[in-house]
Amino acid sequence: MDVGESLVRALARIWDALLDLLLPRACPGCAGPAAGAGPLCRTCRDALVRRPHRCTPRPGCPPVWAAGPYAGLHRRVLLAYKEGDDALARVWGERLAAVCEASGLVRADTLLVPVPGRGPPHDPRAPVARIAAAACGEHRGGTPLPLLRHRGRMRRQAGLGRRERLANRAGAFCADPVPEWAVGRRAVVVDDVVTTGATLAEAARALRAAGLCVAGAVVLAERLPSTEGGEALPQR
Ligand SMILES: [Zn+2]
Repeated sequence: MDVGESLVRALARIWDALLDLLLPRACPGCAGPAAGAGPLCRTCRDALVRRPHRCTPRPGCPPVWAAGPYAGLHRRVLLAYKEGDDALARVWGERLAAVCEASGLVRADTLLVPVPGRGPPHDPRAPVARIAAAACGEHRGGTPLPLLRHRGRMRRQAGLGRRERLANRAGAFCADPVPEWAVGRRAVVVDDVVTTGATLAEAARALRAAGLCVAGAVVLAERLPSTEGGEALPQR
């Protein structure tokens, strides 16, 4: 990045900060005024705090725990974050910390490995993994380690059924070489939304191929595939 470009970015950040001071922020959950420093109003903030749950088992997918459903308020606030509202990173990092604790999957020596984003401008997963690890504390929080990379191009998953998603995801990820200090550790995959579990299954495969033991996955929201036109999950 050259000097001119970094100056423009710095000015843009100052301008955004000024606007934040001058204009009242809208709560992304209900569009009402946010409370104090925000980013959510008090009602939405309280409503977002719910007990994490273990997701319906997905074939081929390790055990998954979620902070809530991909519906209603939970979905609106998550979409706002995914669309670039960075002020929500802390909210979701803390929700993910609650999932890590409730799941029992994460121990002090666990690696938290985010599913890789598609690059700039916004990757919702890595920041929440970092914040969650810090929020859980040194002894329970695990270590965020972004080991996974996309291998080549693939179609977007939206609108695909379970079988198509699995085929689309097969071989989609590869893992960087595991650093010496992390060899043989257990890993937990971090993602934003689980639908069919195809992405998590592929992430787990790539991490196992790199020599890690995958204990499960933690996500911000569970979407039931039958609600978006995909194939319904078999009931177990
Ligand atoms: Zn609200």
